[in-house]
Amino acid sequence: MGESKKLFSFIPKVDELLENPIISEKLDKLPRVTILDSIREELDILRDDIKDGVIKDENIEERIKKLPHFVVENAEEKNNFKLKRVVNATGVIIHTNLGRSLMSEKVIRNIIEVSSNYSNLEYDLELGQRGSRYSHLEEIITKITGAESAMVVNNNAAAVLLVLSTLAKDKEVIVSRGELIEIGGSFRVPEVMEQSGAYLVDVGTTNKTHIWDYENAINENTAAFLKVHTSNYRILGFTSSVSLEELKSLKKKYEIPIVEDLGSGVLIDLSKYGLEYEPTVQNSIKNGVDIVTFSGDKLLGGPQAGIIVGKKEYIEKMKRNPLTRAFRVDKFTISALEGTLKLYLDEDSAVKNIPTLNMMTISLDELERKADRLKNMLNEEISEELIQMQIEDDYSEVGGGSLPLEKLPTKCLTLSSKKISSAQFEKRLRCFRIPIITRVSKDKIYLDLRTVKNDEFDIIVEGVKNALEK
Ligand SMILES: *Cc1c(COP(=O)(O)O)cnc(C)c1O
Repeated sequence: MGESKKLFSFIPKVDELLENPIISEKLDKLPRVTILDSIREELDILRDDIKDGVIKDENIEERIKKLPHFVVENAEEKNNFKLKRVVNATGVIIHTNLGRSLMSEKVIRNIIEVSSNYSNLEYDLELGQRGSRYSHLEEIITKITGAESAMVVNNNAAAVLLVLSTLAKDKEVIVSRGELIEIGGSFRVPEVMEQSGAYLVDVGTTNKTHIWDYENAINENTAAFLKVHTSNYRILGFTSSVSLEELKSLKKKYEIPIVEDLGSGVLIDLSKYGLEYEPTVQNSIKNGVDIVTFSGDKLLGGPQAGIIVGKKEYIEKMKRNPLTRAFRVDKFTISALEGTLKLYLDEDSAVKNIPTLNMMTISLDELERKADRLKNMLNEEISEELIQMQIEDDYSEVGGGSLPLEKLPTKCLTLSSKKISSAQFEKRLRCFRIPIITRVSKDKIYLDLRTVKNDEFDIIVEGVKNALEK
């Protein structure tokens, strides 16, 4: 007891530590309150270590000498952003947990320009009076999709809710049972419908719905047919669903509008690039759908947004719905979406410059070259005894509930170490300064090169070194 009392007398005061040059030189870089919190935390740890006998006579001085370094490290860690960049080496392109679609440089430049200056967000420059924030995107969206009119809200879930609330509140909406889906993050078609005030009339069965199922359900209270693109799953085998073509005949006969939740919202024909065909927005409009909704940050490759396109009379009604105010998009979204959509005016430029599309269409040869380059870089920095590496064939996923059956052949660099288990290795990479998110399979780390950018190779090398040399 007397022993530890003596040790406690070594503990410096908070003010003393603040004056220590190692700490004081950080005072103009880090908030004072953060440094004070760190000092208190490190002193608590020190006291506990003395109490627990971890610190003894012979090592107290050394520990006290290290204290300012611990404080600075702790404060810098605290000062880091909580939302921060990570390296996505999972091969899942539209990874909802990792931020879905990436913005290209061109798009970012537009966001900076618009948000670090005043803008004409709600100002009509021609008339010199109040304008609408929805006007900036309408022209380009209608041009690309062929729709009469367009508006944009916060996300596709909000878009669906707004559409149903505007067109079908207190009325009935007919949906096939095969399309009553749940999307990740608790978007469930029946629940969204309930929130909108529309009544769900589900028809058909899980695997088969026929046109007469829809027709039999029609009454004077029917406000719309809803088609939902079952983007994250497929029913295979004995199935049939009603095509837009068939539904169009009912729409004509009964004058009931067709609403479609397309989910992903592709604007180009992906089959041209060797991928599974995913119904495009243009195709729905051409086939007579009155209102189509889709996401901005899935296959479109833009910011989080919900895009609504279709008949002008309906869109005008939606703009007047009070929910629109609650779902409205900010200037970051509008500038990012406009920047992304501009790239679609030239399809080659879209595929080249929109990261999501670029990652989907990158060639296997290029992936192999990337894997090779990364392997060489790691070879140069890390001794062979520490790491085993191999380039392996594997599959990437599109993700985001899109193209669920599409398996994209890819090249992975696999890593394993005799020093640490793969689970430990994965965790150290994940907890690195810039987290590197990987997959463990067959007791190896898989780095899928499809979602790793060339300028992230240095980070991976540093992260792997850090993991193995700890
Ligand atoms: C993803 C998805 C949604 C939700 O879109 P968010 O933009 O994430 O709100 C709704 N419906 C379908 C069919 C989807 O695939």
